[in-house]
Amino acid sequence: MIRVGNYEIVSVAAGYDRLDGGAMFGVVPKILWEKTQDVDEKNRMRMALRVLVARDRAAGRLILTDAAAGSRWEKDEADRFGIEDDPGALDRALAAFGCAPEDVTDVLLTHLHFDHCGGAVRADAGSSDEARPRFPNATLWVHALQWKHAASPSVKDRASYRARDLRGIENTGRLRLLEGDPPPSPFPGIRFLVSNGHTPGQLLPLFEDDRPLLFASDMIPTAAHLPLPWVMAYDLHPMTTIEEKERVFAMCRDRGLRIAFCHDLRAGAVSVAIEKGKPRVAEILDTDPPRVSIEP
Ligand SMILES: [Zn+2]
Repeated sequence: MIRVGNYEIVSVAAGYDRLDGGAMFGVVPKILWEKTQDVDEKNRMRMALRVLVARDRAAGRLILTDAAAGSRWEKDEADRFGIEDDPGALDRALAAFGCAPEDVTDVLLTHLHFDHCGGAVRADAGSSDEARPRFPNATLWVHALQWKHAASPSVKDRASYRARDLRGIENTGRLRLLEGDPPPSPFPGIRFLVSNGHTPGQLLPLFEDDRPLLFASDMIPTAAHLPLPWVMAYDLHPMTTIEEKERVFAMCRDRGLRIAFCHDLRAGAVSVAIEKGKPRVAEILDTDPPRVSIEP
């Protein structure tokens, strides 16, 4: 667990998936990226689907950023993407804070690709299409640009959205859209960066502190994506992603910004050193949930 401002923060791998290694690294040749990753016989890289849990004990807020892929998957879909759901991991992490899913006050969905938002809803027993909110008392926050884009994605990215997820999220009746760049933040100690390279209106929470922490979501999904040109082929606007990364690394250099990842198998968050203009991991931060219960 790390403390950032008033928040106690852990990173939980609430599931895993497997995506094509080439697509994950864009124009970077495999001869370079394969040194950083293990791939299966189908050239798929196994990735964690991380949920960032942030608790402001004094304010009574329990905020999740992203929600993994969830359990509402047909077998053929789950096999294609190597989806493994592990909802127990999140439940255990919440329990270590003395909390349960009912105590989650807010879920920030950075964007609505299936591997980030599917776990915001759950299936009723015996049905894959009747959804209930996984966190029944939580407000779900999405940037308005992303919500609009998800309703009519481009031919390039439409496979990343599932109507089932969007319907389930809307049907919770608890969806709130944020507007503006940056949008006003409803949370003390958190402001937002809006990233448009991967997808329009990707909402990145920045936890304020002497050394702030940014959940970089799919702008920098793993530590292997720190080098500037290492951006995903999934990105709609890769040059925009590169420019956005440059601004983030300037904050690493000037303010000691730390970065939390959405897909790294090993590191929930890192501090970053900039040497001769190039970012590298300086230290892997201990973002594991506590092993013993903390008094509420
Ligand atoms: Zn994405």
